[in-house]
Amino acid sequence: MTRREIIKLFEASGLALTPSRPLTLFTQYNNKMDKKEFEVIIIGGSYAGLSTAMTLGRSLRETLVIDAGKPCNQQTPHSHNFLTQDGSTPKEISEIAKSQVTKYDSVRFYDGLAVSGKRSNKGFEITTSKGDIFTAKKLILATGIKDLMPDIKGFSECWGISVVHCTYCHGYEIRNKKTAIIANGERAFHLSSLVNNLTKEITIITSDKKDFDENQLAKLKQHNIQIIEKEISEIKHQNGQLEKIVFKDGSTEIFECAYASIPFEQNSNIPKELGCKLTENGHIEVSFMQKTTEEDIFACGDNSTMMRSVSMAVSSGTITGAMVNHELTQENF
Ligand SMILES: Cc1cc2nc3c(=O)[nH]c(=O)nc-3n(C[C@H](O)[C@H](O)[C@H](O)COP(=O)(O)OP(=O)(O)OC[C@H]3O[C@@H](n4cnc5c(N)ncnc54)[C@H](O)[C@@H]3O)c2cc1C
Repeated sequence: MTRREIIKLFEASGLALTPSRPLTLFTQYNNKMDKKEFEVIIIGGSYAGLSTAMTLGRSLRETLVIDAGKPCNQQTPHSHNFLTQDGSTPKEISEIAKSQVTKYDSVRFYDGLAVSGKRSNKGFEITTSKGDIFTAKKLILATGIKDLMPDIKGFSECWGISVVHCTYCHGYEIRNKKTAIIANGERAFHLSSLVNNLTKEITIITSDKKDFDENQLAKLKQHNIQIIEKEISEIKHQNGQLEKIVFKDGSTEIFECAYASIPFEQNSNIPKELGCKLTENGHIEVSFMQKTTEEDIFACGDNSTMMRSVSMAVSSGTITGAMVNHELTQENF
């Protein structure tokens, strides 16, 4: 049954139509679907995955999007720097995207977690946590990354609200505020140079001042950027709004916001399981056209780039969709 047929059924039942009702119904129907074979499976249905799905849907490709529904930015109240959606909530952006992709009948959605993947005579076999198995000729990984929260009380509650990772996403909103930069060495120095254009009240909080060379220390001094060499024990906050940083020696310092550089890991083990090479930084290695090191496997979005943003995820998704469609076309033409 197509999405349009489901909406018609829904309307015939006399229930009020809302933008989300047909979509929910469609998703529920798809979860019970008996279709198991596709041309393409996309694991991850956030910005990168949906963007890929739109391109493939518009190319009439039988596509399955498997999504666990946990994008990395879900805690941030507003998303910025994405044209036409500047200041929207992350959910608003993905809901509009999903409702638009749902229009393409060849794209199906499955709510759930893909837990393993292997090659088969049909291309790939993907198994979900509910035990469903789907196959496809091409596999697209749009799985994102997981930020690893440091062991600091209050940190994760402030993440994306008043403790942020990116000047382009949130810097404008926290301009001219008393700002901490929680990072070490090169990363702290680089962030300071960017943040210096947004506020003049900057303090770097680092575990080791010796990570800076003489030139860097001179530059930081020239711009009146303070350095605190102490370990943080807690971030005091009100509903995610940073109020003060507490150090392990018991001292405190008042701040209004912070930038933090924290480690990450891949959200999914499937890329590794299928032999995709990772870069030194831990991203999936991809070519200019989003191809991984493994035949017929593509990756897009945060899992394969340092340029982390909604616009980049959407852009790499579009490239991936076009490249996968191109390969399928060449194979069948
Ligand atoms: C706190 C924070 C705030 C941000 N603010 C901004 C901002 O203001 N502006 C901006 O442009 N960018 C912002 N970003 C960056 C932006 O959110 C990311 O670049 C973008 O979400 C990447 O999209 P993606 O589709 O690659 O991954 P994600 O959006 O992280 O989505 C990955 C999806 O894949 C699913 N998934 C993963 N593994 C599996 C699996 N095995 N099976 C099924 N599903 C799976 C996940 O559940 C999730 O739905 C922010 C990031 C963070 C962390």
